[in-house]
Amino acid sequence: MHRVAAALLVLSLSTSVSARRRAATPPPLESVAADLIGAALVSDEPWRELAHLCDNIGHRLTGTPALEEAIDYGVSEMTADGLTAWKQPVPVKVWSRGTESLTMDAPMPRALTLLGLGWSVGTNGPLSAEVVVADSFDHLVSLGDATAGKIVLFDVPFTGYGQTVGYRVGGASAAARQGAVGVLVRSISPESLYTPHTGAMSYAEDAPRIPAAAISLEDAAWMRRLADSGQPIAVTLTMGAQDSGEAVSHNAIGEVTGRSLPDEVVVLGCHIDSWDVGQGAQDDGGGCVAAMEAGRLLAALPVPPRRSVRVVLYTNEENGLAGAQTYAEEVDKKHVAAIESDTGMGAPGGFRLDIRGDDDAVVAQRLAAAEAMLAPVSALLGPIGAGGLRPAFSGADIAPLVRSGAIGLGVDHDTTGYWPIHHTAADTLEKVDPDNLRRTAAAMAVAAYALAELDY
Ligand SMILES: [Zn+2]
Repeated sequence: MHRVAAALLVLSLSTSVSARRRAATPPPLESVAADLIGAALVSDEPWRELAHLCDNIGHRLTGTPALEEAIDYGVSEMTADGLTAWKQPVPVKVWSRGTESLTMDAPMPRALTLLGLGWSVGTNGPLSAEVVVADSFDHLVSLGDATAGKIVLFDVPFTGYGQTVGYRVGGASAAARQGAVGVLVRSISPESLYTPHTGAMSYAEDAPRIPAAAISLEDAAWMRRLADSGQPIAVTLTMGAQDSGEAVSHNAIGEVTGRSLPDEVVVLGCHIDSWDVGQGAQDDGGGCVAAMEAGRLLAALPVPPRRSVRVVLYTNEENGLAGAQTYAEEVDKKHVAAIESDTGMGAPGGFRLDIRGDDDAVVAQRLAAAEAMLAPVSALLGPIGAGGLRPAFSGADIAPLVRSGAIGLGVDHDTTGYWPIHHTAADTLEKVDPDNLRRTAAAMAVAAYALAELDY
């Protein structure tokens, strides 16, 4: 008798709790935001997760067991945090670095530091050649035949990542069209402590595929001075890089199902893969643990958000964007908004608002409407320094969703300390400030909640 009564009581309690969760009207946005920020600012969860990713799993290039281990870890953490989590298979292409070295042969023998660029071909044995220094693509063209049989060094000052990265991506094919046999690129960074920066490159169809590597700012400046003083420079480049075929990776997805519009989705995105140097701490381990933390806080709300919120740890951002492409192609629900953190883990100053479309007038109208809708969010995040909102590109992984009409938000971090360690062996855990992680998670949680709750 007692047992039956107890069972009935438990049944009625659990029924009433779940009924209340479904039916309840949520507290005002201001009060939910204050709770989310308060919980985020005292949480050690994202730091614990980032330490595990960095110190126990390490860097996570597409095609490596470490990446798949990190993806499994993301799924298990999100499941433990109360999200419904799963893995989405993603076909990927695999590139591997192999062993590589660079030595100066003239005017003096020296071992130099380098990092081969992602998707570069190897050298098929040591490649020895003279070095010709080019300041720009125009300067390269003006050099004409002088580059034939040589290794071209693009010594181009950093004027902004977007402005300068074209030399890393397209430098090899431009030089190959003029007969060069290899390319060295001054690392895409404003400053350096003798750290080369890797990153993806690509080959044009109409040029031979020649090997390409990044060198430090210091060595680029030195070679420039040698060239300016008329001294011939010769180097030997050896790269074992190769395409390693195809594989299946995964996006790790965790969902907090919406209480009344479960088929509309707000994404909290980041990328779980990294380059094969350093620990992928700021690029983009920090973004992933901040997104997971935001998901954890939203899953713990007494009244779930109106729309569904999905944490997506995208795979293969660095050298393929296959995770972003597969996610967008296989979208099963209406995606109304997407938030991404992939600009390191400096102090978050707010968001870059990203609206895309073919019709400029419609885009302007949607931008103004989104700015108006997000003004209260900016006001709520102002006290933690994250109240900024400016129109700009949001993020590479959510870009396909934004092009399909979703509102895009990129966490707008202070990147002063980021570019110097971006894609280098120096992207390691101890450079991350735990408070910036907490603030990033708070900003992502509040923005996701608002976008899941508000009318638009
Ligand atoms: Zn990144």
